[in-house]
Amino acid sequence: MKLAGYRLKTAEGRRLKPAPKTAAEHYQTPEHRAWRAEVLRRAMFCCQHPGCTATAYTARLFADHIVELKDGGAALDPENGQALCGKHHTVKTMRERAKRAKA
Ligand SMILES: [Zn+2]
Repeated sequence: MKLAGYRLKTAEGRRLKPAPKTAAEHYQTPEHRAWRAEVLRRAMFCCQHPGCTATAYTARLFADHIVELKDGGAALDPENGQALCGKHHTVKTMRERAKRAKA
């Protein structure tokens, strides 16, 4: 166990991670995970869609960028985040996609 921990630390320290170039890469970063945790905490682990009663206990919650990264939204600002249940996250993603297709 000790040895494995040591090895992990060494590998991590040696690796120089370049800044993420794409949204997909961004989602893998510790910064994104911290942002996600903060967004969900601020929402008190409830879906923020008006009238929705889903919580982290009843549904899978997504930390959603209010202004999407593709549209130039701030990636790590908790103000640009909202917690959405799976259903409302899908609805929002579809709506944004339709808006983008029209533009
Ligand atoms: Zn919801």
